[in-house]
Amino acid sequence: MPYYDLPAQIRSVRPELDAAIARTLDSCAFCLGPEVAQFERDFAAYQGARHCVGFNSGTSALHVAMRLLNIGPGDEVITTPFTFIATSWAIAYVGAKPVFVDIDDRTMNMDPRLVERAVTARTKAVMPVHLYGQPFDVDPIAEVCGRRRIPLVEDAAQSHGARYKGRTVGTFGELSAFSFYPGKNLGACGEGGALATNNADYARRACALREHGSTARYYHDEVGYNYRMEGIQGAVLSVKLRHLPAWTAARRRIAHRYHALLSSTPLKLPVEAAGVESVYHLYVVRHPKRDRLREHLEARGIGTALHYPLPLHLQKCFAGLGHRAGDFPVSEAAAKGCISLPIYPDMTDAQVEYVAAMICEFKDW
Ligand SMILES: *Cc1c(COP(=O)(O)O)cnc(C)c1O
Repeated sequence: MPYYDLPAQIRSVRPELDAAIARTLDSCAFCLGPEVAQFERDFAAYQGARHCVGFNSGTSALHVAMRLLNIGPGDEVITTPFTFIATSWAIAYVGAKPVFVDIDDRTMNMDPRLVERAVTARTKAVMPVHLYGQPFDVDPIAEVCGRRRIPLVEDAAQSHGARYKGRTVGTFGELSAFSFYPGKNLGACGEGGALATNNADYARRACALREHGSTARYYHDEVGYNYRMEGIQGAVLSVKLRHLPAWTAARRRIAHRYHALLSSTPLKLPVEAAGVESVYHLYVVRHPKRDRLREHLEARGIGTALHYPLPLHLQKCFAGLGHRAGDFPVSEAAAKGCISLPIYPDMTDAQVEYVAAMICEFKDW
């Protein structure tokens, strides 16, 4: 069993995908076009956001978010070192400096208590991540941002539809970025991403930036990119969005089943903070002997993965920031102990029980 079964998901909606792709082949609207516009309306409605702008990846959406806030060389953006690298790429792409703050050991999201002391006169944004499907603690971070007049940008690439105190993530920041990479909770048949915002000026400028910085064809107001969403991806995403609530419910059911079955093991299980509804993009457990556990599970046909084995401050690409091991100890411990168990909407009860039984069989803690 793989840790994520994409073929099963595609099979489950194959006739609808075939029809959506065929429609795009008929219209030949391959770059942006009506299918993308429809998906943008659908996703904005799902989010409860006024505007949604489609991109060719989540990384592109994050990059454009930095451009919209006019962040550049000499500026700083506060973010987490325990995430996928793309969160920090956006900051690096505009020549700004990622300023890391450590995570909370319980939730593995940015520790709100550490944010304010990282603020300087150069801080131009705070960009936490809703990691693994679990919302970060929005209120205390938004409070610091509001008081210090610093924009909040949400990296919601792993958390479509997750809720914080009843409200969907992606509605708290000035801008929120989503990824539709095939393995995300809402995935394209290829690459995709989006920005959600309630600010019409940001939405307008984002549309220009994704299309070579032009508002009228062949007139370029500022340096832009080819970051357009493909028509076929818009068509595919509208189909899959209709299934997302059921898929999310299935993920939550699986996570709660794991929780019941694994609570007596020495594993540190994911904690759903009070008032929060995780969408369990990943089900990540922790233990110092995770490498041995991983071998044990792989030998029994159970796929696992590591999200993420090396925090960003220790990545070679950021050596120039001058960080050392020990700078962000909670992130470093998480990287050493984390292991992602299989979770996907089509997973059967029997599969969940098999994974749990094989973990309970492991005696080498
Ligand atoms: C996937 C992901 C991204 C980047 O999205 P792409 O669509 O792959 O470019 C950014 N941030 C996080 C936290 C992600 O998981």
